[in-house]
Amino acid sequence: MTVDEREKAADTTFEEMGIDPQVVKAIQEAGYDKPLEVQAACAPPAIDGRHLVVRSRTGSGKTAAFVAPLLTTLDYERREPQVLVLAPTRELALQVHDEWIKLGTYMDLHATCIYGGTGYGLQLKHLEEGAQVVTGTPGRVLDHFGRRTLNLANLDTLVLDEADEMLSAGFFEDIQKVLSACRNLKQVLLFSATLPHNIARLISRFMADPVQVDLSTDRVDVERIDNVAYMIDTTVPRARSLVSVLEAEDPACAIIFCNTKVDTEMVTSYLRRRGYSAAHLNSDLPQHKREEVMGRMKAGEQRFLVATDIAARGIDISFLPCVIHYEFPHDVELYIHRTGRTGRVDRKGRAVTLLGSSELHGLQKLAYRYELEIARFEAPPYQEAMKMLSDRRIRQIKELMEAGKVVPEEFKTIAREILSDADAESVVSFLVDEYMAKPPEEGSRIRDRDRDRDRPPPRRSGPPRRGGGGGRRR
Ligand code: AMP
Repeated sequence: MTVDEREKAADTTFEEMGIDPQVVKAIQEAGYDKPLEVQAACAPPAIDGRHLVVRSRTGSGKTAAFVAPLLTTLDYERREPQVLVLAPTRELALQVHDEWIKLGTYMDLHATCIYGGTGYGLQLKHLEEGAQVVTGTPGRVLDHFGRRTLNLANLDTLVLDEADEMLSAGFFEDIQKVLSACRNLKQVLLFSATLPHNIARLISRFMADPVQVDLSTDRVDVERIDNVAYMIDTTVPRARSLVSVLEAEDPACAIIFCNTKVDTEMVTSYLRRRGYSAAHLNSDLPQHKREEVMGRMKAGEQRFLVATDIAARGIDISFLPCVIHYEFPHDVELYIHRTGRTGRVDRKGRAVTLLGSSELHGLQKLAYRYELEIARFEAPPYQEAMKMLSDRRIRQIKELMEAGKVVPEEFKTIAREILSDADAESVVSFLVDEYMAKPPEEGSRIRDRDRDRDRPPPRRSGPPRRGGGGGRRR
């Protein structure tokens, strides 16, 4: 345990938390002087039989956070599985099993660890002898269940350790099967560094009114971030509203999060046709492309990354000034993950959400849960946004001209001909469209400005403009 984590020791004792004295004795022998934060937060509700959803970093002491209270509530007279802990790897399962053995030394505990890659003999013996606590990996657990050597019918408590990793690694169906087999399940404890939306689905199906324990540092990050939402008109294409918001916000660069892969592609081509440098990132993209796109974004060679939630976790683009939620995510937790990409390394960040009226509820839930102040604005009308965009583009073209590019005389003749043509407007529009549509790496010389800025644009003192005047804060 690091010094940092020790400092997070809770201001209570294991006894005060309601842990059985015999378990406390083993805890002390294990060298745990004081409860850690996660343990203090989890023990009382776990002892009360509540469902728990815990977001806590690996290595924060979360194993003891469920082992100690469950050792306190276990019925030692009953010789059948009462607690099942599922972990994504054999190593982790064994580690958790060791904690049961260590902290259960002074209890009449019968525990076993069942996992693949090893013989059935000992596992069968332990199960037949009436193990009360079973820790294992989903495959072998289901295997025993299928052979009727593991009875889950009277299981009281299911613990999912590293729940996000386990579910994203393709165990989701297995977990569903286990859950269906546990006909008398009373308590589910979820431990995860993050909470993706498939876990949220599981929570809503199997866990009524869970106690949420959120000890992740992402939450703190969010507090350093300006959260704003633009109310948009959902009767017009959302990509149009995005352009309005981009023009109002004018971020140096941003990740634009979409809820679907299809949208990442559609939004990217919509933006590119309007001359923005943008690239999409989703799981359909081959790995080398994904790395290439990320590389360009990290190097500051590209202004917008239009991504699904595969970019919501782990990605670290230094000083990303802005994250845009093209749609409100399916789960408020995802808002936190996505938003955690901005405002890193002590910089201020900005999270901007495009919000249709039907998404308002999600935003309110988010604001309530995380005590966030989310300023709401009206998106500038599209015409106004287009005017801002065209002014900017014309300015950029002029800057390029001033940079000394010599235009051949015959082109000027063509230009004069075009301008005196009856279809002048259409012809010029076509040329601009062709020019804008060129992706930057293919030679478009219209660059989004200031891509090398490493800090957010200076905020206007008031809300963004709307209809030439001030935006409306609600
Ligand atoms: P875990 O997050 O469960 O993997 O635990 C991380 C490490 O913290 C393990 O090595 C535990 O043995 C240790 N640990 C758990 N609880 C405490 C405590 N209250 N005080 C000190 N160390 C602890």
